[in-house]
Amino acid sequence: MKPLGHVVVSAGLGVSLGLATRSPTAGGVSLLVGVFMDLDHLPDYYRMFIQNRPNSNWLFLHGYELLAPMLLWGYLASWHPLPVAVAVAHLAHLLCDQFTNRMHPLYYFLSYRAWKRFRHDELGSWSPQGAYAGLLSLPLGRRLLPPLVRRLRGEKKGPGD
Ligand SMILES: [Zn+2]
Repeated sequence: MKPLGHVVVSAGLGVSLGLATRSPTAGGVSLLVGVFMDLDHLPDYYRMFIQNRPNSNWLFLHGYELLAPMLLWGYLASWHPLPVAVAVAHLAHLLCDQFTNRMHPLYYFLSYRAWKRFRHDELGSWSPQGAYAGLLSLPLGRRLLPPLVRRLRGEKKGPGD
């Protein structure tokens, strides 16, 4: 799912969880987890743009296996709204990605990606380049990202920088 989709879904989920648990903090945390979980793309972008090694699919936060420690945290905290919100937001993000991105059915398991050595060419269609194209579609994406990439690479300024 693209970033704006995650914002919409996470906002709805955050409001719902906040009302259901009577905890605005849990609702806010749910929103933050749902939106910012995609920050785990940054290492792949770094490898692609800075190290010129575009074949990694680490996405260390995109894994159903992470629900186990989250649920354990919830259990140990007597199902406090905060760990519940984190687990629900994480699961919702994964399910949105699972059903909107055309990937192998096991792609969102860390163990499957580890088995495939986290290599894009063995995992399928997701690529840092494709995700970067999605970021370019965000408001100000075309204006901000290319100059940032050039700057991180230590390249000279381009037109419009
Ligand atoms: Zn995602």
